[in-house]
Amino acid sequence: MTEQLRRKTRPVRYGTLTVGGGAPVSIQSMSTCPAAEKERVRAEIESLTAAGCELVRVAVRDDGDVEALSEICRKSTIPVVADIHFDASLAVRAAGTGVAGLRINPGNIGGKEKIEEVIDAAAGAGIPVRIGVNAGSIERELRGLYRTEPARALYESAANHLRMIERLGFRDLVFSLKSSDPLVTVEANRLFAGDNDYPIHIGVTEAGPPLSGTARSVVALTLLLSSGIGDTVRISLSGDPVREVVAAGAMLSVLGLRDDFPEIVSCPTCGRMRMDVAGIAERLERELLGLRTNLKVAVMGCEVNGPGEAREADIGIAGTRGGAVLFKHGEVVRKLTGDFVEEFLREVRRLFGAKG
Ligand code: SF4
Repeated sequence: MTEQLRRKTRPVRYGTLTVGGGAPVSIQSMSTCPAAEKERVRAEIESLTAAGCELVRVAVRDDGDVEALSEICRKSTIPVVADIHFDASLAVRAAGTGVAGLRINPGNIGGKEKIEEVIDAAAGAGIPVRIGVNAGSIERELRGLYRTEPARALYESAANHLRMIERLGFRDLVFSLKSSDPLVTVEANRLFAGDNDYPIHIGVTEAGPPLSGTARSVVALTLLLSSGIGDTVRISLSGDPVREVVAAGAMLSVLGLRDDFPEIVSCPTCGRMRMDVAGIAERLERELLGLRTNLKVAVMGCEVNGPGEAREADIGIAGTRGGAVLFKHGEVVRKLTGDFVEEFLREVRRLFGAKG
């Protein structure tokens, strides 16, 4: 997977973050709390930022949420986007609060005039708008087509909104075309990517619980990213959004689109295992969260495949009788014995600290 393959898109700026225009594919997520719950939102944004999230959306449902936005934005070190459905007046007011962008679904914001009001407000505030198109909010005229050709219906919907908004002279746009069906999502985005140069936010909507949801998202996003489509990603999962960021970082690293997320490999474990591989790997994942480095760590259960894989990593351990063998940069360093997990983590921190 190469950078050169990426579709050329115009740059759109969310505060300090550029989406499109050749910028690295960025990772975004969404707070699970409404904006009015400022303290919880702030804490969540902090955890997301620490994990590597670069853009965060917050749900704005009413006046109380709009009022909370300026403080949330002031306290956040990453750009905050107001996510608004149904009520254009909330989007208009949110635009002036310091948010770095708006996200609306034109299909549910109340018609052409309301879309124009939102676009005017965004233009006035100098912020971009993400136009979200998904199955749940597709316009009535396209619902028939959606039943027979869902991807084409999503594409037609996005293309209609694009033409309408361009007529207003506004081009600070990012588009997303999402379905809960990963392959429909892929096809719709391919159609859309072919006839314009707006950056695309890619994701599978309602992807699901962490494991199956990650699989469904990664299939779709990998197909798109490997054909050069996608400027910013969200892996939508039910539950703690930090997992979305970890999964997105791993996916982009494997595809060669980011090199600032650590890689943890651990064996699947079997009856030969000599240490708590899963427990150590999980602790490592927490320890390394947010470190901006491409170092690789291996945790292997025994001496069958362990040494080979541990040697390949920057640092690794392979279980052995009475402990584990520590490897660094392909060389055996020493045998760790007793309660060695802390000692191993110290070694990892030392190495990552040196480079991270
Ligand atoms: S490394 Fe050892 S413990 Fe882990 S899966 Fe392979 S054989 Fe089993």
